Amino acid sequence: MADNTESLVYLTRPPENQTFGNISHDKNQLTFTSFQNVIDGELSSTELTRSTVNPSTLEANPKVPVCTQHDVDKAIAAAQRGAEVWAKVSWEERKKALEAFADALEGYVTEFTHITVRENGLPLPLAKIDVDWSIYTIREICKLSLPDKVIEASRGRHVIERYTPIGVTVGIVPWNGPIVLSCFKIAPALLTGNALILKPSPFAPYGVLKLAELGLRFFPPGVLQALSGNDDLGPWLTAHPDVGRVSFTGSCATGKKVMASCSAHLKRVSMELGGNDPAIVCENVNPAIVAERIASVALSRSGQLCMAVKRVYVHEAVYDAVLAEIVKYFENVKVGDGFDSDTVVGPISNRPQYERVKEFLADIEEAKLDVLPKRVKPIEGLKGFFVRPVVVANPPDDARVVVDEPFGPILPVMKWSNEADVIRRANNTDYGLGASVWSRDLGQADNIADKLQAGNVWINTHAELQASAAFACHKQSGFGSELGVTGLTGWCNVQAVYTRPL
Ligand code: NAD
Repeated sequence: MADNTESLVYLTRPPENQTFGNISHDKNQLTFTSFQNVIDGELSSTELTRSTVNPSTLEANPKVPVCTQHDVDKAIAAAQRGAEVWAKVSWEERKKALEAFADALEGYVTEFTHITVRENGLPLPLAKIDVDWSIYTIREICKLSLPDKVIEASRGRHVIERYTPIGVTVGIVPWNGPIVLSCFKIAPALLTGNALILKPSPFAPYGVLKLAELGLRFFPPGVLQALSGNDDLGPWLTAHPDVGRVSFTGSCATGKKVMASCSAHLKRVSMELGGNDPAIVCENVNPAIVAERIASVALSRSGQLCMAVKRVYVHEAVYDAVLAEIVKYFENVKVGDGFDSDTVVGPISNRPQYERVKEFLADIEEAKLDVLPKRVKPIEGLKGFFVRPVVVANPPDDARVVVDEPFGPILPVMKWSNEADVIRRANNTDYGLGASVWSRDLGQADNIADKLQAGNVWINTHAELQASAAFACHKQSGFGSELGVTGLTGWCNVQAVYTRPL
């Protein structure tokens, strides 16, 4: 396990005590101008192609393949062969291959960072954190192990429990954080001896295809593949009888469809879904410090982070002061193209999400909620999917902006006076991804934290992860945690072995 010095803030700052991007590496073959599927140890194109736009400039990104059912069948057949080979490779050798893959990725930090800015619109420093976190995650997962458990060692009988690979697995990733969320799946899937097919979102396929292409140097054919396609690709993969496990990251609505499809063959599934994280701010905080931290997590990735703060509950004694500081941060933050050095908030990543965020704003206007700042500065000189961050002051608990996940730069800030009541309000949601408490009285904070219904509970911080700890989710935010030893076990079958002497 990592020590405390490696406690990390996910997507807010890079892993501590790690340096990245310093390895010189043979860059032959990996270019970032053409993007192809990775099937059976080879790059392959399709007759039909598509492309996305850079959300900052609306310029077209390069073309990517659009898979057919035939490509899916080919990839799954290759994965079956790859899984058979890979399962026979020792844990130590698989670990070495993954570590070499992480080292090679480190040689391409700049290229993966730039492609992330182009496909996601992330500000450069955040995009680089994604890549740094990908490398860190692989290395950290490689430090974990799943030894056999001796259950009984008597004279007449030996009983162990051990973990065996599932075989062909599929990782479906969303458009936010595609590279890092793929690495959350690549490292544990391959370390435990499975073959993995990655399916990126049609809105962010570039980095994921390149990850799998890089993997060609380190893993046997069929062990790490990636397929790009349209909306029918995910359902083809989840319905395929030869897939043993689907690790899904995305929205609750799609997660339910994926589970329904997987149920036909009783596939193993894990679900990392949406969140509506509350932050409870107590009366004894320094408003300026806490407001800045909460505002920066809420606006990280323009609010397009599953575990961003999405609802803030502030004690009435400090409500006005905290609200004013959050609004100040929102008003003054630099919104712009991810490649501009001073940009803190980039665009919304794609058109459908942009339309969804605008719908939320229209809904807020129609409900005549109190939007701050009062005069939102216009977005000038920018062509892309930009939205100025706004705070909604003290909306009712049943307002859509409180109940749903806007996944954009809109933050409702509510008032509380009674501790039991604010805990009830924070828990009054179908989501259960993360929740935080902010208090200088750690006894009070612990007491509140103990009652929060979420997979990740933070005290005086938010959205912090450690790759050796489970990234957990409760309620409709999902199940089957990623990361940590718990995450490793999800990629395995459990097997009990009984031995008697003859
Ligand atoms: P989405 O659910 O629309 O899509 C996710 C992925 O599923 C994409 O690759 C998509 O192409 C694929 N997909 C769509 N329909 C499918 C189907 N019927 N069968 C199989 N695959 C299908 O989500 P999104 O809009 O890409 O991402 C945003 C959502 O993801 C938000 O709700 C966010 O909170 C959530 N998210 C969760 C986590 C987490 O770890 N909990 C991390 C990031 C994002």
